[in-house]
Amino acid sequence: MKKMFSFIAATLILLTGCGESNVPQTGYTKYSAQFYGTFDTIVQIIGYSKSEEDFSRYAGQIKSRMEELSHLYDIYYEYSSENNIKTINDNAGIQPVAVQEEILDLIEFCQEWYEKTDGKVNIALGPVLAIWHSYMERYSADASDAKLPQMDKLQEKLPLCNMSDVIVDREAGTVYLAREGMSLDVGAVAKGYATQLACQEVYEAGFTSFIVSAGGNVVAGDPPLDGVRSSWGVGIQDPFTADELNGGNSVDVAYVKNTCVVTSGDYQRFYMVGEQRVHHIIDPDTLMPADYYRGVTVITPDSGIADLASTTLYTMPYERSRTMAEQMGWEAMWIFADGTVECTDGMISLLRDRGGATGLLS
Ligand code: AMP
Ligand code: MG
Repeated sequence: MKKMFSFIAATLILLTGCGESNVPQTGYTKYSAQFYGTFDTIVQIIGYSKSEEDFSRYAGQIKSRMEELSHLYDIYYEYSSENNIKTINDNAGIQPVAVQEEILDLIEFCQEWYEKTDGKVNIALGPVLAIWHSYMERYSADASDAKLPQMDKLQEKLPLCNMSDVIVDREAGTVYLAREGMSLDVGAVAKGYATQLACQEVYEAGFTSFIVSAGGNVVAGDPPLDGVRSSWGVGIQDPFTADELNGGNSVDVAYVKNTCVVTSGDYQRFYMVGEQRVHHIIDPDTLMPADYYRGVTVITPDSGIADLASTTLYTMPYERSRTMAEQMGWEAMWIFADGTVECTDGMISLLRDRGGATGLLS
């Protein structure tokens, strides 16, 4: 039902708004647009263009590319006759599936990073994640009788979760899951990866001064063309107030340009078992929700990497997580259950409150 709503909403026209009453001296005007339905989330676009027509064209380009990619990367539904990740899953143990390049690219990207990040983000974990997902669906609306899945049922699925059984054949253009019962879940990476592609393409087409947020997965292009600011301000959600009706507060504001800001947190998708918050990011080593942090935010120039990185860092204890971030050159903020906040040095220098960064022309 939720999906159907999303699909219908995605066919609606972009809502375009002209932001500023005074057109800045630069000759560019600020516009904004938003649309629903891709990756089950809202996509917001703010950017500077010479005319509303230009902006609408660019925003439309982002929208149609995000729609296309969200169909290709969908694990629950198929669209027309096009093969997508669901088709790959449905053919596990049966046959290789011919898919478009964007799917081959995404899967190879995940395989490459799986090696570099100690296997913490494993897109072959589908059978385990499907169990967690079914519990989440069942209890997030009504927590009265909420339960955790049984560990032996989760462990039974482990033999079907090997990345080495995900066979990409570049020459044939196919993907094959070697064992029946396997399935891919690209939820940790696909939204960020798709947002990166869509934003990169529109940047190359000439729309350079923008900020795009796909459900909190933020890509910042060149700074605002208002002749004043030198960067975009991105609020980092305070997990402790995230459940409030107004969306809660920010713990800080990061001032950024030409980079991406992505957060993984326990407040985004969860259900409650008594006092325990059972959320959607599963540590592949315990098969349970990772419980080191309330949230981890990563800043790094590629949104696909940022999405994968925030999930990876979220599943590691702090020392290991910090070492990984530093080795990879990712800026990161960790928010712990007791409210403590830790940041890499580079992150602090981007923050308004902790580091004193400003968005003004320097
Ligand atoms: P994110 O919000 O980007 O941190 O990603 C969370 C989503 O990724 C979940 O909803 C699952 O679909 C998927 N996921 C959760 N844990 C893992 C994991 N360890 N490896 C791969 N995907 C995961
Ligand atoms: Mg992620």
